[in-house]
Amino acid sequence: MSFQNPVFIPGPTNIPEAIRKACDMPTLDHRSAAFGKLFRPAVAGVRRVLGMEGGEVIILPSTGTGGWEAAITNTLSPGDRVLAARFGMFSHRWIDLCQRHGLEVEIIETPWGQGAPVAAIEAALKADTAGRIKAVLATHNETATGVRSDIAGIRRAMDAAGHGAMLFVDGVSSIGSMPFDMAGWGVDIAVAGSQKGFMLPAGLAILGVSDKALAAMEGARLPRTFFDFRDMLRSYAGGGYPYTPAVGLIAGLAKSIEMLEEEGLEAVYARHARLAEGVRRAVAAWGMRPCAASADLYSETVTAVVVPPGCNGTDLVKLAAEKYGVAFGVGLGEVAGKVFRIGHLGMLTDVMVLGGLATAEMCMADLGWGVRLGSGVAAAAEFYRGSAVPMAMAAE
Ligand SMILES: *Cc1c(COP(=O)(O)O)cnc(C)c1O
Repeated sequence: MSFQNPVFIPGPTNIPEAIRKACDMPTLDHRSAAFGKLFRPAVAGVRRVLGMEGGEVIILPSTGTGGWEAAITNTLSPGDRVLAARFGMFSHRWIDLCQRHGLEVEIIETPWGQGAPVAAIEAALKADTAGRIKAVLATHNETATGVRSDIAGIRRAMDAAGHGAMLFVDGVSSIGSMPFDMAGWGVDIAVAGSQKGFMLPAGLAILGVSDKALAAMEGARLPRTFFDFRDMLRSYAGGGYPYTPAVGLIAGLAKSIEMLEEEGLEAVYARHARLAEGVRRAVAAWGMRPCAASADLYSETVTAVVVPPGCNGTDLVKLAAEKYGVAFGVGLGEVAGKVFRIGHLGMLTDVMVLGGLATAEMCMADLGWGVRLGSGVAAAAEFYRGSAVPMAMAAE
């Protein structure tokens, strides 16, 4: 017997059957015309999902972390200054990566549960009259705390400061699940990964790179070989890769975009917003709250649930895995033990989320957290019932 419960971690996400099949293909020569036929629609699709105008899409055999590394090594030089706010594990890891590459990171320490501080970013840019800051790094959706930052607001702050820095955005856990407007927000590099909103196995870093970032590439002196955009772009011109691409994953990516666009990107975003709202209603019914400090910061892809005093979120995650075979996310870094995380992105329906909420409740009851079985499920079910998009309509 093989048990196949959905996962409720904020990546990797559940893989639709159609995508699994698309990835499973015989060996194909990546230097043949057949590869170009597979690759070009995937690239064109990524452009639409990111909302790009101009620039280039780069797809690397890597993960989101490799995407960060590629973004900075292709555009910056040792000693360059970048501006970043730290408000969760992922914004922290990006800062750490920059420091290990010899960049000078101007860090705005921000309480976990808050988003990127737009006013402080504007002030830091205004204070930088010498124009030393080369890039602003922003984590769109901080997966550790379930916080969405206002990227349009950061762009407005940069414009208000009249600062010419590039804007690099980590959209690993938002792209494909939450609205993303690379051109509208003036994003210079957007980083995504295959295993979250794109519903694929891990293995691809997916980047949108603006013309401005491409221009910075020529003068950038940080070392890179595997991740060098210049080699990639030269090979792309011939429909290929400088090395062996992850062909199956690229086939899966084309399928993923086909599925997202069949549902309609707006409908995909609306589905994520509904699923998230149902989860938050369950959390409220449990007498708990999201880690995100206010409603404008709520992520539509992951909710970090603050557990009651004396309870440990990691206990729930362990029990759910061991007793019920269901995966939730543990708290990371500063919020380890203080939260557990419910991922609600990718291939998920109301019915699947209700199963996850029921599992969380069983664990809470087992752990003696004083939560009444069915309380959160009822609140979510009431919301889903009242706002359901009939499947017959969704399929049209
Ligand atoms: C998952 C995630 C990453 C890391 O991606 P990997 O694919 O695990 O390297 C980076 N940033 C955010 C916001 C994420 O959610």
